[in-house]
Amino acid sequence: MALPDSLLRSLGEVVGASGVLTEPADVIPFGFDGTAALRQRPGGVVFPRTTDQVVKCVRAALDHGVPTVTRGSGTGLSGGSVAGTDSLVLCLAQMDAIAEVDARNLTIRAQPGVITQKIDEAASRHGLFYPPDPGSMRVSTIGGNVAENSGGLRGLKYGVTRDYVMGLEVVLADGRIARLGNKCVKDVAGYSLKDLFVGSEGTLGIITEVLLKLLPRPAARRTMLATYGRIEDAAETVSAIIAARIIPCTLEFLDRVTIRCVEEYAHVGLPTDCEAVLLMETDGHPAAVADEATRMEAIARERGAREVRAARDEAEAMTLAAARRSAFSALARQRPTTILEDVTVPRSELASMVAFVARTAAAHGLQIGTFGHMGDGNLHPTFLTDERDASEMARVHLALDAIVGRTLELGGTITGEHGVGLAKKAWLRKQLGDDSYELLRQIKQTLDPRGLLNPGKIFD
Ligand SMILES: Cc1cc2nc3c(=O)[nH]c(=O)nc-3n(C[C@H](O)[C@H](O)[C@H](O)COP(=O)(O)OP(=O)(O)OC[C@H]3O[C@@H](n4cnc5c(N)ncnc54)[C@H](O)[C@@H]3O)c2cc1C
Repeated sequence: MALPDSLLRSLGEVVGASGVLTEPADVIPFGFDGTAALRQRPGGVVFPRTTDQVVKCVRAALDHGVPTVTRGSGTGLSGGSVAGTDSLVLCLAQMDAIAEVDARNLTIRAQPGVITQKIDEAASRHGLFYPPDPGSMRVSTIGGNVAENSGGLRGLKYGVTRDYVMGLEVVLADGRIARLGNKCVKDVAGYSLKDLFVGSEGTLGIITEVLLKLLPRPAARRTMLATYGRIEDAAETVSAIIAARIIPCTLEFLDRVTIRCVEEYAHVGLPTDCEAVLLMETDGHPAAVADEATRMEAIARERGAREVRAARDEAEAMTLAAARRSAFSALARQRPTTILEDVTVPRSELASMVAFVARTAAAHGLQIGTFGHMGDGNLHPTFLTDERDASEMARVHLALDAIVGRTLELGGTITGEHGVGLAKKAWLRKQLGDDSYELLRQIKQTLDPRGLLNPGKIFD
């Protein structure tokens, strides 16, 4: 279904004709994100550059009863920015200005299309630090990160995107502008509405500006790689480190399948003859870093690590982190279809969950590589499969169901950081229960009564 000509004309008047795409070849790249087997073709794509233009585009779409799907870089892993022919994609990638780094208040103010890594780079020029570092940080936008409440490799110590959002400017479904939060460290005036928009996946409003908290840059950091002959030992190391009251900034896990793929792809010298590795990083005051690194190494060895290797210098530390960040891309080269799961369990249940994933893969004759933010209890069992093979896909769905079901039995969540989108909505009611699920629906109904903001995501 094509978008009405009168809408396209109105949009052209707002952003200029070159800022509106409708040709199939032009819009196809905006019909999918990083989620396998979820592809559609949007009716059109518009590229606003200012909040005022966003307001005008939203009002024009509203006047025509056309749904809008907000999009950053399209790296999402739950189908959140997938849009159909009846929808207009509002791509905010060109709203990419950093308005201010306020070193006195430790804040940064930016448009939503700024690439995540650029936020930290801008902060670092002032000796400051923006910790959330999703694996996609070189491509994802800060607006997408806020909309998904993204986590990252440093989440264990520093938390997730929500922990850094001090203020938001949001264009509401009817085109009004809400300005929520401010530079005050404390503020309890009214409901914390900004928190409602963090993780709202484009279903409640369009984030047009973010105000983020910054921290002083840590003075020192130490990166280590522990190698294991048994996956369970790696999981137990994580639990033991936490139990020893150490909070490293990073505890990342890669299983054998993932290690081999990453090594083949990135050639960083990962040991390919082991069952698992843990990438461990501690940062902060040099004395504290030295002490924590020594204790973490000892714990890893006690729990059965075959080897614990410390990065010689900053360059090697960056290489190891980059290797971990490449896990998804490395796995995706193996088979035509890559389905990345995002289950999270209480950390005490990690060993049991990792073993369950391995058993499930064997039981269904599937190839699953598992990696993830183990310190957060967040695992990414990744199915290497082929969507053209119906019988294999049927087994994938059975295995997925089993893994998500087991996650809920263990007190976990169906998504730790990638969001519900299209991919996880079938399980949301089961996790929340009827009353909480209906409360979420009421909020959506109140803020978007006509259901025109990213329809079909989170809820049916
Ligand atoms: C290789 C790889 C590694 C990844 N690693 C991580 C990781 O470590 N941690 C993690 O949490 N995620 C990770 N992701 C997932 C993804 O990068 C994040 O969800 C990211 O925040 C999406 O940003 P984006 O700009 O690409 O958003 P998009 O994919 O374009 O959009 C994502 C969702 O946000 C909404 N949205 C986007 N911008 C706005 C806005 N301005 N206002 C309102 N709604 C908006 C969209 O409608 C959609 O629902 C990874 C993805 C890849 C491909």
